[in-house]
Amino acid sequence: MLQKPKGTLDILPDQSRIFDKVEKLLCSKAEEYGFGRIRIPTFEYSELYKRGVGQSSDIVQKEMYSFFDNDGRNLTLRPEGTAGVVRAVIENALVNESMPLSLYYLISCFRYEMPQAGRSREFYQFGAEVFGADIPSCDADVMRMVSDMLSSLGVKASLEINSIGCRHCRPKYHKALRDYFGKFRDQLCPTCLERLETNPLRILDCKSPICKGIAADAPRTVDHLCAPCREHFEGVCGCLDAAGISYTVNPRIVRGLDYYQRTVFEFISGDIGAQSTVCGGGRYNGLVEELGGPDLSGVGFAMGLTRIILALKAAGVTADETPPDICLASMGEAASKRAFVLAGELRERGVRVMFDQVGRSLKAQMKFADKKNARFVAVIGDSELENGRITLKSMKGEENREVSLDAEGIALAVKKA
Ligand code: ATP
Ligand code: MG
Repeated sequence: MLQKPKGTLDILPDQSRIFDKVEKLLCSKAEEYGFGRIRIPTFEYSELYKRGVGQSSDIVQKEMYSFFDNDGRNLTLRPEGTAGVVRAVIENALVNESMPLSLYYLISCFRYEMPQAGRSREFYQFGAEVFGADIPSCDADVMRMVSDMLSSLGVKASLEINSIGCRHCRPKYHKALRDYFGKFRDQLCPTCLERLETNPLRILDCKSPICKGIAADAPRTVDHLCAPCREHFEGVCGCLDAAGISYTVNPRIVRGLDYYQRTVFEFISGDIGAQSTVCGGGRYNGLVEELGGPDLSGVGFAMGLTRIILALKAAGVTADETPPDICLASMGEAASKRAFVLAGELRERGVRVMFDQVGRSLKAQMKFADKKNARFVAVIGDSELENGRITLKSMKGEENREVSLDAEGIALAVKKA
């Protein structure tokens, strides 16, 4: 039997309905906050991610699905959204629009990693980016939007923030990290040994328990910020305080992508096991320039929808199927045809209707209507066809209704409370 590739998900209707509910709410919240939706390609030139996500990131190092197309182009299935959005912003000259430019997206992403609960090879993200807005209240507003989204969804998650400085203060901090982690060379995992040379900041994000233990006492970014970065970070904290948004400063948060600067943040859920980060984001001034655009700042986040759904499930949230208003049962060929035509006419009038498409016995049709949780069931047989009248039998304890056998009459009766 053919099976789905390792790390992919089949999302069946029961779960899809929860996804739909979540996606609808996220999109409408984003619109409320002044964001516009952008749709970006599922694959891009590999070069984009190498430059935009960063050579030392886990993504570029080991997680990309890259391939050559028939013309020998090196392409990659998108592992995240920001790089593609930035490319599109530059390519479509959106950098010339009045700022801030606020965009959101709903995408599938692809990363080659070990599948486990809350981690798959194809997964879904909702993300948003704000370009051209530098002041601390912009960072805080992005976090406020996520916080608002999560609480509207009913997902409990705590906000953890940090600042990882900028191009100016990072070298000094890197040196402090190298001095510190250098003392533990014999204990660090092979990847972190490499990171020690390429990007020691990444060691703070290592998932190996030994590296984590060593990192616990590592120098903190917040103690090595230059004056403008410090001022920005204090500004962000001040805005969050003023708006009554609770958060903790977690000096271990550095984020997985190379392009972050200054503010980084995560929303963590306590209900979903080891893969507990439901949303990660931060500021990435410099990325637009890195990808060939002007010096335009950016701040944004991405939310992992599969983890949001896990959190909702843990909270007992379900989304029920919308039951039909009426099931048309029929006996005989003429009646069956009449049910088919009526179903179309009723749908035109906004009635949710089902009719027998399997050729079941009358008894089985009634059972099916019950199983589908229909509000009414109506049987079309010889006498109904002859008399032109039909009885809508209530399945929910309402009064039965006898009406003329046409869409007008049935629709009117069904709409009546
Ligand atoms: P992690 O540390 O869990 O690997 P990350 O730093 O790689 O996360 P980001 O690139 O910031 O994650 O992606 C944003 C969000 O997307 C994450 O917080 C998470 O909710 C979700 N996410 C990332 N990778 C996966 C995956 N493989 N499967 C499901 N969700 C994911
Ligand atoms: Mg990752």
